Amino acid sequence: MTQSQAARFAVPIIANFDNSYSRLPERFFARTEAKQVTAPRLIRLNRALADELGLDPTKLERPAGVDILAGNRFPENADPIALAYAGHQFGNLVPQLGDGRALLIGEVVDTHGARRDIQLKGSGPTRFSRNGDGRAALGPVLREYVVSEAMAALGIPTTRSLAAVLTGEKVLREDILPGAVLTRVAASHIRIGTFQYFAIRGDADGVRELADYAIARHYPHVRDAENPYLAFLEAVIGAQAYLVARWMLVGFIHGVMNTDNMAISGETIDYGPCAFMDNYRPGTVFSSIDRGGRYAYANQPAIAVWNLARLAETLLPLLDDDQDRAVSLAEGALHQFQGAYDSAFHSGLRRKIGLLSEEPEDLQLIGQLLETMDRNDADFTLTFRSLAHDVNSPEGAGATRTLFNSPAAFDDWARMWRQRLASEPRHDGERRDMMLATNPAYIPRNHHVEAMIRSAVDLDDFGPFEEMVKVLARPFEEQPGMEKYAEPPKPEERVTQTFCGT
Ligand code: AMP
Ligand code: MG
Repeated sequence: MTQSQAARFAVPIIANFDNSYSRLPERFFARTEAKQVTAPRLIRLNRALADELGLDPTKLERPAGVDILAGNRFPENADPIALAYAGHQFGNLVPQLGDGRALLIGEVVDTHGARRDIQLKGSGPTRFSRNGDGRAALGPVLREYVVSEAMAALGIPTTRSLAAVLTGEKVLREDILPGAVLTRVAASHIRIGTFQYFAIRGDADGVRELADYAIARHYPHVRDAENPYLAFLEAVIGAQAYLVARWMLVGFIHGVMNTDNMAISGETIDYGPCAFMDNYRPGTVFSSIDRGGRYAYANQPAIAVWNLARLAETLLPLLDDDQDRAVSLAEGALHQFQGAYDSAFHSGLRRKIGLLSEEPEDLQLIGQLLETMDRNDADFTLTFRSLAHDVNSPEGAGATRTLFNSPAAFDDWARMWRQRLASEPRHDGERRDMMLATNPAYIPRNHHVEAMIRSAVDLDDFGPFEEMVKVLARPFEEQPGMEKYAEPPKPEERVTQTFCGT
């Protein structure tokens, strides 16, 4: 290490920094240093998250801290690495992807005792950059910040955003855009594609070492199972079934569910052209790169199974020495997805319409509501929120019906709904509170996300960004003055396509 390199690593701002991943074999990653940027400027530090991580927000906001968040300097004991991984992109296997614009600088153990990765996204080229510049544009950084933090506030497993900084440099996309770096916090950055990276190279030891690391970090209880690797596969399947069910319950569309974008931890990761649906329509696709609609809203559970099958393939040699037996164990595990998904999705749907008990006809009742919403251009988020407000109104009253092109179609459904509610005696207030706590008022609506990005990129105005972050931190509380964030887009505001813009 030269003297200037040593100086880059001498920042004692983050105590207890560690990097357990960099103790794995060398072929798991590439040691990389971030490229220096000219004029780092902090856009926002997530102070609450810094506290949770045991980091001092005041120090991080000072120039030396901002230097860390921009990749100009590193905390003591940092061991910055770009991770190797492969992945199926839109169904096609790409044997080498890897962190092409991201750097895992290390890990901290948070105040709950959980080990969390600290990653810089947009910090410069790595061995895995291929033709990319290793940089991130401001727009995608702000989108990821806003949407990931909104997901966290909705209680959905997700990577988090610790900070966004401007680099003071330009990046060249279709336009010349301001460059930025996002500091991402994750339970880990191990993806299905990380397993594929070793499996497709015939590197059985690599797969085993990665599995052992992932088990120790995320699913330590499976070590006591009769077949720990099978139990590991089942645990990942369970976590992803739960995750995708939670997405579906808020109308979230990931947009790029490639196997390299699905985390073993069960967190939502890699917010690209993601979006929340406004009108309920199962075939909704926003991503400009998803031309075939592979990752449409309604396809997400099936795609999750497809991805998990790719994970299962990599683990076959660990499941059993006998190949046929290994395959049947993997198939058995994959079959568990549907049950786990249905259980999370159906109980969530029941709660959304105010039910706590279970009757066999409930799913039909909910299906009829969704169908009526689809046929009547009803807004997904607003309909459920409004149901909560109307749950104690007399029949035919309330605002929900006005969200449907044909209010009478809603009334027909509401009659059946009220009958079902009456069969489940509960205090009116209690039911309403449960519904308000499960049906958000605020989601990061696409037209607001786009407008927020435009303000920041075109006008250097981060007011809308700050406002969205603030509103979306309390998605279940009506916030006076912030009504516009609850509103669906007017026809002229509707966003039909989202772009990765990496
Ligand atoms: P993603 O779109 O985040 O799933 O990325 C797919 C792959 O492309 C990953 O290997 C990324 O690291 C890589 N990549 C995306 N954008 C860039 C960029 N600007 N420079 C280098 N690599 C990139
Ligand atoms: Mg990715």
